[in-house]
Amino acid sequence: MSSHSPHIPDVLVVGGGIIGLVTAWRAAQQGLRVAVTDPAPGGGAAQVAAGMLAAVTELHYGEHTLLGLNLESARRYPAFVAELEEASGQQVGYRSCGTLAVALDADDRAHLRELHALQRRSGLESEWLSGRECRRLEPMLAPGVRGGLRVDGDHQVDPRRLAAALVVACERAGVDLRRTWAERLVVEGDRATGAVLADGGELSAGQVVLAGGSLSGRLEGVPADVLVPVRPVKGQVLRLTVPRPYAPFLSRTVRAVVRGSHVYLVPREDGELVVGATSEELGWDTTVTAGGVYELLRDAHELVPGITELPLVETRAGLRPGSPDNAPLLGFTELPGLLLATGHYRNGVLLTPVTGDVLAEALVSGELPEIARAFSPGRFSSPMVQRVASYEPVLRETRLQEQSV
Ligand SMILES: Cc1cc2nc3c(=O)[nH]c(=O)nc-3n(C[C@H](O)[C@H](O)[C@H](O)COP(=O)(O)OP(=O)(O)OC[C@H]3O[C@@H](n4cnc5c(N)ncnc54)[C@H](O)[C@@H]3O)c2cc1C
Repeated sequence: MSSHSPHIPDVLVVGGGIIGLVTAWRAAQQGLRVAVTDPAPGGGAAQVAAGMLAAVTELHYGEHTLLGLNLESARRYPAFVAELEEASGQQVGYRSCGTLAVALDADDRAHLRELHALQRRSGLESEWLSGRECRRLEPMLAPGVRGGLRVDGDHQVDPRRLAAALVVACERAGVDLRRTWAERLVVEGDRATGAVLADGGELSAGQVVLAGGSLSGRLEGVPADVLVPVRPVKGQVLRLTVPRPYAPFLSRTVRAVVRGSHVYLVPREDGELVVGATSEELGWDTTVTAGGVYELLRDAHELVPGITELPLVETRAGLRPGSPDNAPLLGFTELPGLLLATGHYRNGVLLTPVTGDVLAEALVSGELPEIARAFSPGRFSSPMVQRVASYEPVLRETRLQEQSV
């Protein structure tokens, strides 16, 4: 499907984070002419994210619909990575290493036991291990580990390398990358027809996909009744490095609830060790705080005491695009010509393959594939839900106990 004028792209994607880029790449592969506008394509939350593909360990009560989409995206990951690495000529650091979730005290153990029961009721594969069995798998764990869950299906990818590969794949597929902000959506009659760009130009397109991450609700010109109920949820992350002679420090992702707070350690093949993450509702603030770094190091040290020997190479904060129900907004809005691909919250890296597939199919066929229908933006369009969803920045620093990635 292609618009009639050879000068007008079929699709304009506003936002070149991993979600906008995968949408653009997949749409271009379908033969559509695609432009992306973003001052720094390949930036965004992927520069901070840990890259856990944690469909099973990230299961939460009440998120069963999202679980289905998460599992489907995890299933698509190996083929997606192979295709992307081929298309870009770059590696993305996909490791099928599995995850170990452990408990350090009786309360944390009870919490993990509940998660295990929920996983089993949901038909998911995970195995309960004693503390000794956990340490046999990961000898660097603290002697106090009381037990844990072995989840062999939760893997990882390096989000920075994923983003870089998507930029190259887009360029090679002929996507027009405009390195500038979209300032305003253009609506003509009852239809979205393009965007006014910060460089002074205006770009028309057959369809517009808004993939602006936590900024998605801020694009001017989007009619008030086409609410984009996305808010920023700050996460601070540390990067350490494991010196070569000691590698491998950990062989899989290790995560825990320490005194009720979530912490994870994600070991990359190149020796990088990512420790994350706080979860704070502070608007668009991305300051790294002493308190955030302290809490992460304190909890990670309790879990794996040897980390204090490792060089600390980076501290950084990023913004998860949170939606009112923690699930993404995918597909058509009530404004013809405007689609959303946003609100991926703590699972955006995991959901990258399936998002690209469903958005490309929607753009080509005009129909949202069955697997994505529950995530249609229309679920927030009743006036009551809109009132609940409207974002008021909450000026308090908090680590939300049930949200860990
Ligand atoms: C600390 C942390 C840890 C995480 N860990 C994981 C994890 O382990 N596993 C996982 O699956 N996910 C994880 N995530 C979540 C994941 O990183 C995000 O869900 C995902 O990166 C969101 O991608 P996006 O492209 O939708 O948004 P973003 O990455 O925010 O990108 C949006 C882009 O749009 C651009 N943009 C916005 N508005 C405009 C405009 N008007 N004009 C032009 N450009 C615009 C921005 O410049 C930006 O580049 C984590 C996130 C954080 C912060």
